[in-house]
Amino acid sequence: MFEKIAHIGIAVKHMDRAMELFTKLFNVKPRRLEEVWNEKVKTALFEFNGTSIELLEATSPDSSVAKFLEKRGEGVHHISFEVDDIQKEIERLKTLGFQLVNESPRQGADDYLVAFLHPRSTNGVLIEISQKRVPANS
Ligand code: ZN
Repeated sequence: MFEKIAHIGIAVKHMDRAMELFTKLFNVKPRRLEEVWNEKVKTALFEFNGTSIELLEATSPDSSVAKFLEKRGEGVHHISFEVDDIQKEIERLKTLGFQLVNESPRQGADDYLVAFLHPRSTNGVLIEISQKRVPANS
C-alpha cells in the first residue's frame, strides 16, 4: 500500500552550495548528511513539519545521479513514496506492467529499503518506493 510521500529528491551539482541555499530557503539545517555507497550518491535530508526534501550529489561519474545531471541538469530527480510492504508493492506493480529499475529492494539512505520505477513507465517521473527497515533485533 502507498502511504504518503516519503521525500522529494533534488539532484544538485555542488552539495555544499546547495545545502547553503536550501538552508536559507527552508530556514532549517539538514538533519543529516549521508553517503549511500551502492548508489554512489551523497544525500542531505531537510525535514520540517512532516515534509522531507533530499538533496542528491553524485560521488562518481557513473552514478545514476551523474547521468541525470548530464541529461537534464539540476532539478527534481525523484519522488519517494513510503509503502508498508516493498516486496509486495514490487510484485503488484510488476503485474500491472510497470517497469522496475530494481526488482528487489536495495539499501537506501536513512535505513530505508528502496526500489525505483523506470520513468519510461511513469510519464517521465522517477518514482522511488521505500520501506523503513525494521531492525533485526527488535
Ligand atoms: Zn530518495
